Amino acid sequence: MSISSAAVSNLGALDAAHHLHPFSDMKKLNAAGTRIIERGEGCHIFDTHGRRYLDGFAGLWCVNIGYGRKEIAEAAMRQMNELPYYNTFFGTTTPPTTLLAQKISSHAGPNINRVFFTGSGSEANDTWFRMARVYWAALGKPSKKMVIARRNGYHGSTVVGASMGGMKYMHEQGALPIEGIVHIGQPYWYGEGGDLAPADFGLKIARELEAKIDELGADNVAAFVAEPIQGAGGVIVPPETYWPEIARICKAKDILLVVDEVICGFGRTGRWFGHQHFGVEPDLAPIAKGLSSGYLPIGGVMVSDRVGDVLVNEAGDFNHGFTYSGHPVCAAAALENLRIIEEEKLVERVHDDVGPYLAEALRSLENHPMVGETQSVGLMGAVQMAEDKASRKRFEDRERVGIEVRNHCLENGLVLRATGDRMLFSPPLVISRSEIDEMIEITRKGLDHAWRVMQG
Ligand SMILES: *Cc1c(COP(=O)(O)O)cnc(C)c1O
Repeated sequence: MSISSAAVSNLGALDAAHHLHPFSDMKKLNAAGTRIIERGEGCHIFDTHGRRYLDGFAGLWCVNIGYGRKEIAEAAMRQMNELPYYNTFFGTTTPPTTLLAQKISSHAGPNINRVFFTGSGSEANDTWFRMARVYWAALGKPSKKMVIARRNGYHGSTVVGASMGGMKYMHEQGALPIEGIVHIGQPYWYGEGGDLAPADFGLKIARELEAKIDELGADNVAAFVAEPIQGAGGVIVPPETYWPEIARICKAKDILLVVDEVICGFGRTGRWFGHQHFGVEPDLAPIAKGLSSGYLPIGGVMVSDRVGDVLVNEAGDFNHGFTYSGHPVCAAAALENLRIIEEEKLVERVHDDVGPYLAEALRSLENHPMVGETQSVGLMGAVQMAEDKASRKRFEDRERVGIEVRNHCLENGLVLRATGDRMLFSPPLVISRSEIDEMIEITRKGLDHAWRVMQG
């Protein structure tokens, strides 16, 4: 390691003095102290005290192939030595950029053959937002501008991303959403389904889209956007009736269907893309995270032929792009990542082996007094906690229960994320069955601990 041990011993103080963290109350964080992660290997990370953690969250939903893969470092180094940067603005490209666009297209459905690159998932959402409007304008329908999104959805942290997201605490800071973005309900049966059966609730929530389009006028609506499975919102797997109904409505009302694949893409759900699990076909699909397994920042928008043919043949200049759109080193790392996913058959592994195994392991927690239900698709799972299982009564202090479980797990060497009263699981796709067992065992102890605390 090139950072001196003197500097490392001082890092906590330096961090408190100089580093502002995302989504953090800095006063509280500085008082508690940051955890400094130094090294990763497989499904484990190590902090500067030499403590080892099983990473049940793959960094931030992204380290799909696990830590420490030298092939990626070598691919990035080769590209860096060859050509560290060149732009894609003025009639140029680089070999890995173009090859990556082709490779991504080869894993998307037959209707998706083009990719626009960005540096992140947020930028990907900003990109399609503009693309959708350009598409409709090119077709002579410039009034089709509004975007319908969902409460408790997550689409990033730029102004457009945060506006399309449905996080109230984000909207409150900065007078969001911006004009032209409105929200409908989420398919969260456990928390909001009331007395309806899940299937009926799924249809009811999907039909909020139809009502909203009718209210705004289909002539004013460009697109509907949703994550296949809400990630940051709590790994909320919608009832089976939901997605087919959404797809039907988008088609009937002639609005674009945008599926945010930033988490669900690249094997997380046991398919290459989450929409494939639900059997729907998006017109546009933002991607990032698992595209490079987080080794370098890169995102993009997958563009269907419906939109792509109009953009290419009729729209003229698309006045949009980023300095790092198609960055060659990031693209080389992503290409190597996709090669590993293909060669090691990680998508199949999630679908046939560790995905079903995780589902079973999560179900084994359902006999816990505090577990209301568990949900998972592939290696994306959630444990819903409840105060009273029989009546689906949730805790008054939802934040607290999640934090208690999360912190207890952390003390016992497992990183999980809590969203309110749901514990979220998103381990690397290379996780073993025995590591899943360990993850569930530590989670159970965390649940026991929180159950005692919540009883007072
Ligand atoms: C993380 C995420 C984003 C934002 O990606 P960034 O790379 O953080 O900008 C967008 N959409 C979804 C569904 C995400 O989970």
